[in-house]
Amino acid sequence: MAYDVCIIGTGPAGLSAAINFKLHNKSVIWFGSKDMSLKVQKSEKIANYPGVPYVSGPELNAKFMAQAEEMGLEITDKMVTNISAMRKGFMVLADNEIYEAKALLLAIGAFTAKPLPGEAEYLGRGVSYCATCDGFLYKGKTIAVHCGAEKYEHEVEYLAEIADKVYLSSGYKGSKVDLPNVEHLPAQLGKVNGEMKVTGIETVKGEAHDVDGVFILRTAVAPTTLMNGLEMDGPHIIVDREMKTNKKGCYAAGDCTGRPYQITKAVGEGNIAAHSIIEYLAELDKQ
Ligand SMILES: Cc1cc2nc3c(=O)[nH]c(=O)nc-3n(C[C@H](O)[C@H](O)[C@H](O)COP(=O)(O)OP(=O)(O)OC[C@H]3O[C@@H](n4cnc5c(N)ncnc54)[C@H](O)[C@@H]3O)c2cc1C
Repeated sequence: MAYDVCIIGTGPAGLSAAINFKLHNKSVIWFGSKDMSLKVQKSEKIANYPGVPYVSGPELNAKFMAQAEEMGLEITDKMVTNISAMRKGFMVLADNEIYEAKALLLAIGAFTAKPLPGEAEYLGRGVSYCATCDGFLYKGKTIAVHCGAEKYEHEVEYLAEIADKVYLSSGYKGSKVDLPNVEHLPAQLGKVNGEMKVTGIETVKGEAHDVDGVFILRTAVAPTTLMNGLEMDGPHIIVDREMKTNKKGCYAAGDCTGRPYQITKAVGEGNIAAHSIIEYLAELDKQ
C-alpha cells in the first residue's frame, strides 16, 4: 500500500509535520529514532522556544515524545538508506524493506559528516550502510566496520558472527565490543580502496588492511546519497518558500535546508512543508 506521505526524521521538523498530517487524516510512514532528536537531547538549556522558557533539551525532547505518543503517531525506528523517485511517488528503502509513498518529507537534520574517500564510489560494490541487509554477503570473509554510535554495537556483533574477521573503527570513545575476531583499529577509518569493488581500507594514520567489504554505520546518510539528483547548496537541500525541493512531491524542512540551526525554524518549516504536501496531495487526487 502506498502511504500518503513518508517523513524521514524524528526531530522537531519531522514531529511538527507529523502532527499536522495527523490532524488532516493523512496516512503516514514516519522513519527515525524513537528517541527523537539527539541534538535537542544534547541542548543544555533552550532559551528561545516560545511557551517553555529555559527548558532543558532532555525535558523538551521528552515532551516531544509524549506528544507523539499521545497523538498516536507511530515511529518506524529504521534508517532510510535509499529513495527512488517513481512516476507517481517514491520508493523508500529502510533496513532492506521497501515502502511506497505519494509524497516525501526530508526532515533529516544537518549532515555534517564528510563521506570518506572511496565511500560513494564503492557504495553497492563492497560499501554498505546496512548490516542486516548485506551482512550475509560476507560469510567467512574479512570486513571493516565503522561504528558511528554506541547504538550500532549490536550490528557490529551481528556482523562479527557472520564474517571471519572484522576491523573495527569507532567514532566515539569506549566501545564495548569485545569479540575474538574483532580487531579494534587504533585510528579511525580514513579511506576505502578498490578496483572494480572494495579491496581494502586505510585508517586516517595510513594503516592499511585488505578487506572484502566495508560497513559504515552512521546516524545519518548524506542527502545526495539518499536521493540522486537532489539539488543542494553546499550541505543544504535547496527549497522554495513552500519547502519544495527540485524533485516533484519531495519537500524538506529543518536544519537540512540551511541555517539558522534552530528548533523554532525546524518546527515552522515542518508546519509549512506539511501544509504544502497536503495541498499537493489534493492536487494529485484531482488528476
Ligand atoms: C548542543 C546543541 C544545543 C542546541 N541548542 C539550541 C537552542 O538553545 N535553541 C535552538 O533553537 N536550537 C538549538 N540547537 C539546534 C537544534 O537542536 C536543531 O536546530 C534542531 O534539532 C533541528 O531539528 P531537525 O528536525 O531539523 O533535525 P534533528 O533534530 O537533527 O533531527 C533529524 C532526525 O532525522 C533522523 N535521520 C537523519 N537521517 C535519517 C535517515 N536516513 N533515516 C532515518 N532517520 C534519519 C536523525 O536521526 C534525527 O532524529 C542545539 C543543537 C545542539 C547540538
